[in-house]
Amino acid sequence: MAHCNENYLNLQGAYLFATVRQKQNAYVEAHPNADIISLGIGDVTQPLAPAVIEAMHKAVDEMAHMETFRGYGPEQGYLFLREAIAKHDFKDRGCDISPDEIFVSDGAKCDTGNMQEIFAESDVVAVTDPVYPVYVDSNVMAGRSGKFVNGSYERLEYLPCYKECGFKANLPSHDPMIIYLCSPNNPTGAALNKKDLTMWVKYAKQTGSVIFFDAAYEAFITEDDIPHSIYEIEGAKKVAIEFRSYSKTAGFTGVRCGYCVVPKELMLETKSGEKVSANALWDRRQCTKFNGCSYIVQRGAEAIYTEEGQKEIQATLDIYRNNARVILEGVKEAGLTACGGVNSPYVWLSVPKGMTSWEFFDYLLNEAQIICTPGSGFGPCGEGYVRLTSFNTPELTKEAVERLKKAVKKLEK
Ligand code: PLP
Repeated sequence: MAHCNENYLNLQGAYLFATVRQKQNAYVEAHPNADIISLGIGDVTQPLAPAVIEAMHKAVDEMAHMETFRGYGPEQGYLFLREAIAKHDFKDRGCDISPDEIFVSDGAKCDTGNMQEIFAESDVVAVTDPVYPVYVDSNVMAGRSGKFVNGSYERLEYLPCYKECGFKANLPSHDPMIIYLCSPNNPTGAALNKKDLTMWVKYAKQTGSVIFFDAAYEAFITEDDIPHSIYEIEGAKKVAIEFRSYSKTAGFTGVRCGYCVVPKELMLETKSGEKVSANALWDRRQCTKFNGCSYIVQRGAEAIYTEEGQKEIQATLDIYRNNARVILEGVKEAGLTACGGVNSPYVWLSVPKGMTSWEFFDYLLNEAQIICTPGSGFGPCGEGYVRLTSFNTPELTKEAVERLKKAVKKLEK
């Protein structure tokens, strides 16, 4: 009989969203007329930008004719898209990233999950707590986590993010070789500023570690002091890999497209001390395991960078930004403390005193028919918090916030 990869047995159940769904379904079964509003979803609601739709229609038509039909494309992505990315996302921000350092993919989940493959199994990993679960689980699958004991994995270094530090992690104490940073952060909404990122880049240079910088929510940044890319920090090309996604930037959650940047200056070391290019290893990995993102989708992504495309996606982002503001103001009016909501589609709020994350989840569902995401599902430091998202419609967001305020007031009586 074939043997299983026992690392998979070491995974803790992905119960968070499944349990949320189960509880929601049970509630609807018991209350068939319930008018539930979800501020728990991490998925967008607004349609794609007309410029993207037009570009994809055109690409579909090209596929209908022998002369313009496209089969397999480059594993790294079409040059037209990588050139647009290099110019608009990097050169225009003063970052020197060339198209051959950019790898287009079908989204940041795959890239953030797969990138660890080009690193040694023995490399120690640091993650923030709370954390986007993909970083942890992909390292568990790869055998890099150690056993799960008392709520955490023995070989992972957890970097707790407390309210007192603005939900930003301090530097690690065990000199990990791989450090996952997500800014603006899912789930806390905290965003690292220039000073924070400079500290991380300096640390990585000193210790020889590599930063996995997840900028999936970069498009939500509105404040000048928050870098859109880690490469805005001098020297970052030697120590950082960056991940981007069009999912929340341009509503591509169902279309699927993103990219990562693996700079040519980033070197890894063999056991015998030889230097190896991370860019070359990732290129080899992608050419072996990935056959490229579809031509139609890449033409759609290219259209985001046109003048019209930019105007249109910004208009949609403004809807979510405004929702985030409405949520943040509402929870503050309700007397709860909150982080995020600025530079981020997420509001991370502390639950009323004496309640756990799940208890507040149940209370909001039963009392106000609102779905949130319990913070404890993102790690031990998430206990006592819930995450609200700004991706619902403006009308339903406003309605949910009014209900939330009433429900919290009731608790005070
Ligand atoms: N990174 C973070 C922090 C996310 O929250 C998400 C999506 O929720 C992703 C990556 C994945 O994005 P994509 O849809 O591009 O796979």
